[in-house]
Amino acid sequence: MHHDDHCIFCKIVQRHIPSKLVYEDDEMMAFHDIHPWAPVHFLIIPKEHIASMAQLKDQHSALLGRMMIKVDELARQEGCLPYPQGGYRLMVNTGDHGGQEVHHLHLHVMGGPRPWAKG
Ligand code: 5GP
Ligand code: ZN
Repeated sequence: MHHDDHCIFCKIVQRHIPSKLVYEDDEMMAFHDIHPWAPVHFLIIPKEHIASMAQLKDQHSALLGRMMIKVDELARQEGCLPYPQGGYRLMVNTGDHGGQEVHHLHLHVMGGPRPWAKG
């Protein structure tokens, strides 16, 4: 699996820096955001280093599909109430104009009662 030695999320995948783990399997990992915007705020990442949405190819379809399908289960596990009264916001920042700071693809999952700090 390809990792980037300078990427903070690759370091999390390799356990070189700690994270508060939400979920892990052989192809993805989910952990709490270090600066949460909402009562529930975690990130889902592929273990493979993919810099952003802009690098996605057809070969990633199944992986991205499985990441998307995992969102609801993990959101519920972390305390989001069920749809439609509860739910969550899914956000994928891409590039500078998209507000992306960490260049390893990640889905933000944010939920819990409002108001939130941001978003
Ligand atoms: P972006 O702006 O790239 O979409 O979001 C990056 C997110 O990663 C930010 O919400 C930030 O708080 C989070 N983050 C940055 N560094 C770390 C870290 O070392 N650990 C964890 N858990 N989250 C991080
Ligand atoms: Zn990476």
